[in-house]
Amino acid sequence: MAGERELFAPVGPIGPMDQIQLSNASFEGDNNVYLLDDGPETVLIDSGDWMAETREQLAASLDKQGVSFGDIDRIFLTHWHGDHVGQAHHIQEVSGAEVYIHEADALLLEGDEAAWEEMGERQRDLFDHWDMPEPKQQVLEKIFESVPYQDNPVDITPIQDGDTFTVNGRTLRAVHAPGHAAGLCLFETTIDGHNDAFTGDALLPQYTPNVGGADVRIERPLEQYLETLQHIATAEYDRAWPGHRDVIENPTARAEYIMHHHEERSWRVLDALSRLGPSTTWEVSAELFGSLKSIHILHGPGESYAHLTHLEREGLVVCDGDQYQLAAGVEQELEGRNEEYWPLR
Ligand SMILES: [Zn+2]
Ligand SMILES: [Zn+2]
Repeated sequence: MAGERELFAPVGPIGPMDQIQLSNASFEGDNNVYLLDDGPETVLIDSGDWMAETREQLAASLDKQGVSFGDIDRIFLTHWHGDHVGQAHHIQEVSGAEVYIHEADALLLEGDEAAWEEMGERQRDLFDHWDMPEPKQQVLEKIFESVPYQDNPVDITPIQDGDTFTVNGRTLRAVHAPGHAAGLCLFETTIDGHNDAFTGDALLPQYTPNVGGADVRIERPLEQYLETLQHIATAEYDRAWPGHRDVIENPTARAEYIMHHHEERSWRVLDALSRLGPSTTWEVSAELFGSLKSIHILHGPGESYAHLTHLEREGLVVCDGDQYQLAAGVEQELEGRNEEYWPLR
C-alpha cells in the first residue's frame, strides 16, 4: 500500500497550526496529527497509530517543521482508539511529555488490567446477545490481540468536560463529546481568528463515525452521539479539524447531515424488522450491511444494536431474549411514513 501514494504530506502550516496527515492502512485511513508550536510550547493533538512506519512518517513530518519527539511538551488525545493514541507511549518515553485524555478513557491507556478485562467481558456478552457466529468472534479476537495497548502504557493526566489549557497564549478547551468513544473530547480553540475545534472521530468528513461497536462500554451510544452532534451544530464552529482526512469547512452542516443519516438508518432498521419479522442483531446487521469483514464485524452489529436499543426505548421495537421485533401498531405507521414522523426526534 505504501509507495502508491504520498507517504507523508503535511498540509500545514495553517496559520499557527500544522496538520500532519499520516497514511493508515487500518481503520478509517489518513490519520491526522496536529502540531501547535507557534510559541515556546510544542503540543500535539493525537499521535497516529502504533505502526513503526507511522512513527517514521510522524518523525519526518515533524522534522520538516524543525521539531523532534524530544521537543514535545504535551499531547492532547481525543479518545482511546489505537489510531489516535499509538505513538503517545513512545513520544512520552523520549520527551517526558504530559499526556491528556478524558478520565473515561484514562485507565485503558494506562494499561489497567481490570479496565481491559471489563471491556473484554462486555464484548463477549454483547457478541452472545447479538448472536455473532463463532468464527466471526474469532476474527475479532485476533484483531483485539494484535493491538498492543497494554504493552504501550501511557502516564495519563485525566481531564474532564470544560477543562481549559493555555497553549502558546491561546485557550484550548476540552468538550466531552461521547458516543463513538466514552471519553471522546473535542478541543475548541481559536486559530487565526477562527472559532475552530479539533473533533477527533466525533465529526469526520467522509464517514459517519461508528457508534455501538467502537466502544461497547457506552450505555445509549446513539443517544449520546446525537447529543454530541447537537452540540457541534449549535456551537457553530468555523472549521472542524477531524481525526481523519481533510478539514470540515462547515461543521454545523456536517453534524446536521449525520443526524439525518441516523434518522434514515433508524427507518431502515424498522423496515428490515418489518420484512424479516423477529430477528437477532446479527440478522438485522446482515440486512443493513451485508457480509462483514475485519473490524466491520464489530462495527456493523454494534451500529445495528445502537439503533435497535434506541428504537426500543422509543417504544417502536420490543426485545424478547436476543430477538427484536416491531412494537404493536408500528407496522401501520411505517406504511404512512412521512416527514413529520421521525423516530429519533
Ligand atoms: Zn475512533
Ligand atoms: Zn479514528
